[in-house]
Amino acid sequence: MFEQLKLTYDFSALEPHIDTLTMETHYGKHHAAYTANLNAAVSKLPDLAGKRIEEILTNLASISDPALQTAVRNNGGGFYNHNLYFAILTPGGSKAPTGSLLNKIEAEFGGYDALKEKLSTLANSQFGSGWAWLSSDAEGNLKVSSTPNQDNPLMQDGGKFIPILGIDVWEHAYYLKYRNLRAEYVKAFFEVVNWDEVAARYHSISGR
Ligand code: MN
Repeated sequence: MFEQLKLTYDFSALEPHIDTLTMETHYGKHHAAYTANLNAAVSKLPDLAGKRIEEILTNLASISDPALQTAVRNNGGGFYNHNLYFAILTPGGSKAPTGSLLNKIEAEFGGYDALKEKLSTLANSQFGSGWAWLSSDAEGNLKVSSTPNQDNPLMQDGGKFIPILGIDVWEHAYYLKYRNLRAEYVKAFFEVVNWDEVAARYHSISGR
């Protein structure tokens, strides 16, 4: 059974950047439904029993039934992506990356502001529902990208890049407060990012 990440903060804790009702609905309804639907699909796929979600998402092609493959892609993606999203948010944020992650960001992107601009552009220009990502490979190389729907970088390149930060740009992530102004939500998102958590994930993937 896959289980939703337990939140370490209240639904209201990310105010005013992410509002209480959005958090309640997003975590309590959307994320809960992806998780329940993933468990329902996996219960019909004995080959997947005991596998980690990362492994399942990297090997979607091994699911031969097309309807079940789609169910695992959409709901497994939704489960994994939101477990990451809610884990890398924290009240008040931790304003910017530090340490080895910051060094790598400076080397690859020219600094945190430049990275933020790249991620914001990807988030704002993703057509329809999807995500913008910062990912790392096992050597600590960073990649920025975006994906539609509940896809993520694990589903590409044999899972070479593992996401360490994800910006949810589905309308359910922002529409109650920001309406059509996605860019305002993306700006607010960066106010509540837990860069310490992102850096910890970078370290566990790359050893850096
Ligand atoms: Mn979402």
